[in-house]
Amino acid sequence: EVQIEVNQLTKLFRQGERAAVNGISFTLHKGDILALLGPSGCGKTTTLRMIAGFEQPDSGQILLQGQDVTRLSPQARKIGFVFQDYALFPHMTIAQNVAFAMRHLAKRERPAKTRYWLELMGLQGLENRYPNELSGGQQQRVALARTLAAEPDLVLLDEPFSNLDASLRETTRNEMRALFKRSGTTVILVTHDQAEALTFADQVGVMNAGRLEQLDTPQHVYQYPSNAFVARFLGHTNLLYGDADNGLVKTALGDLQIEPGVVGQVRLSLRPEDLHLSPAPTCDAAARVISREFRGHDYFYTLEQDGVQYCVIAPSHHCFDVGSWVNINVLRGGSVLPH
Ligand code: ADP
Ligand code: MG
Repeated sequence: EVQIEVNQLTKLFRQGERAAVNGISFTLHKGDILALLGPSGCGKTTTLRMIAGFEQPDSGQILLQGQDVTRLSPQARKIGFVFQDYALFPHMTIAQNVAFAMRHLAKRERPAKTRYWLELMGLQGLENRYPNELSGGQQQRVALARTLAAEPDLVLLDEPFSNLDASLRETTRNEMRALFKRSGTTVILVTHDQAEALTFADQVGVMNAGRLEQLDTPQHVYQYPSNAFVARFLGHTNLLYGDADNGLVKTALGDLQIEPGVVGQVRLSLRPEDLHLSPAPTCDAAARVISREFRGHDYFYTLEQDGVQYCVIAPSHHCFDVGSWVNINVLRGGSVLPH
């Protein structure tokens, strides 16, 4: 069941300048979680604000359950929006904040429903507190309870975890994903944090300068980026060049297997964990360790071979000294990027 369809959504804030959002299209089914991931200024918030109705697109279409809502007011769309700063009513208690979202229900139904949402968010006992008497994480959950209490068809989250400290961010993110999955809520999350997008979403849309560069599962955008921007934005990568023929490509790190049918000059993206290091008996055809960073469960190495730098992530139980010679072995073939 298609929940939302966005067609060629475009927004120009100033005539003659580059579009803030440039022809974005995607479709989400009920219960899907999409993360729009990209650097600051790439148009994520503007995309969300157009979907919510706070901003009018210059062109394009937004369909909610098949109905064209592009020109409807925010109130006429059944969309919930959780802002970065939560936007709770400071003069209302937690219970009043949540009950406020239930104006569509009969008065007598509201107390029980309020209890339901607060309990689901682990906020029982805090009903009579005011927002400023809660921690950031608790306020975050109140904001979410209030949004879900309105029973929206779609929930929009704009960098919702950025005000939480690192440890709370991870648990809140996991709890929230589980909650959305349990309730079958359709969600669009906006973030500049690749780890957040990869762990939270079923689909990741990577944005760059107003465009959607790639829309795929987390595994695919990471392992099979469709271009160098996506490859780099999702983490460290090694870009290798070589001549392809018959399912093999000759590179500086040896002959690598790729999908058959690709012929000629190609560029490959290889993740640092797809490379493996072994001690080199001599410095012939070997790589030199330039730097080594200890990261707890692994080491992050920078190496140089024939004037080219490589990055490799290796388990911390075996380590190579800076200045030593190693062989770089490819564990996995990598993915071909278009030129
Ligand atoms: P993101 O959320 O990815 O950081 P935004 O959607 O906020 O990006 O912004 C995209 C681009 O649109 C930026 O260049 C920003 O300066 C511009 N922009 C956003 N809102 C407005 C506005 N109200 N008026 C003019 N320009 C805007
Ligand atoms: Mg933003």
